[in-house]
Amino acid sequence: MTRTHLPFGDKRDSAFYGTDIVSVSQFDKDDLDYIFEVAHEMRNMVARIGAFDLLKGKLLANLFYEPSTRTSSSFTAAMERLGGGVISINEVRYSSVSKGESLPDTVRTLERYADVIVLRHPDVGATALAARYTTKPIINAGDGVGEHPTQALLDLFTIREELGDVDGLTVTMVGDLKYGRTVHSLAKLLSGFDVNLQFVSPDILPMPDDILAGLDESGAPYEQLNSLDSVIAGTDVLYVTRVQRERFDDEADYDRVKNEFVIDTDTLTAAKQRMIVMHPLPRVNEITMEVDDDPRAAYFRQMEYGMYVRMALLAMVLGKA
Ligand code: ASP
Repeated sequence: MTRTHLPFGDKRDSAFYGTDIVSVSQFDKDDLDYIFEVAHEMRNMVARIGAFDLLKGKLLANLFYEPSTRTSSSFTAAMERLGGGVISINEVRYSSVSKGESLPDTVRTLERYADVIVLRHPDVGATALAARYTTKPIINAGDGVGEHPTQALLDLFTIREELGDVDGLTVTMVGDLKYGRTVHSLAKLLSGFDVNLQFVSPDILPMPDDILAGLDESGAPYEQLNSLDSVIAGTDVLYVTRVQRERFDDEADYDRVKNEFVIDTDTLTAAKQRMIVMHPLPRVNEITMEVDDDPRAAYFRQMEYGMYVRMALLAMVLGKA
């Protein structure tokens, strides 16, 4: 992506100005510190005054080819709290996509109206492809079973805000590690820290080989298990995921594994008092509702941290941070 002109008031040397956000692999630790510092400022700003006209006059296009509640609405909230506007195409069925328009043509259209595009698409690599056709920054909001980088950034921000330091923690990911894109991005992101990773999944839903190969390369220690029993007591972050029904070819396979891991209050009796339970949501059955009342349940707070991280990212790619 190349910038052709610089709108008045934008800072060319601003970190991430005009940058596409495609994968967590593009960020080093200094980048993460910077993103989280800005996100933290956004959190304070919202607590103090609620909204601020930093992105006044800017437009975001939310282009979602798959369902979304949190990602689309938190990007909308983020943009509007910064004084910008949003074009929402949350149901591509009612757009020209249903007439057969290609992804490149759709983003070439939206870039004529908007300053930044947020894209969710069922195909792995869709954001990277779309980015080749637009000069405006494009943000990956989930590309099939590939990555969900802004979710991983908000997950890491949640861990930092809730527990302080990331180094030294044991992070246990449980559920559908094969199709869950959030755990793919989070595992990649955490591989740059001194963490101990535990992957607990049904036997047919393990963490994909390419993610494990990346962890091997970075030297991040991990273990693959099919029970929580031996790891729950030593866990600092329990990251629970939904079994991704929509990715299964055979419904019988889904039925067989959908309730294999259910976190309930009994699970928590064996856990540390300072542990946090996270979930990218939506939840189906994998965390019982009684867990919601436990202070360790961080998944609702996690959603709010997401808005601050997305405010930071929008300000950064639009040259205002
Ligand atoms: N909301 C997350 C995602 O879009 C997690 C999920 O759908 O289970 O990947």
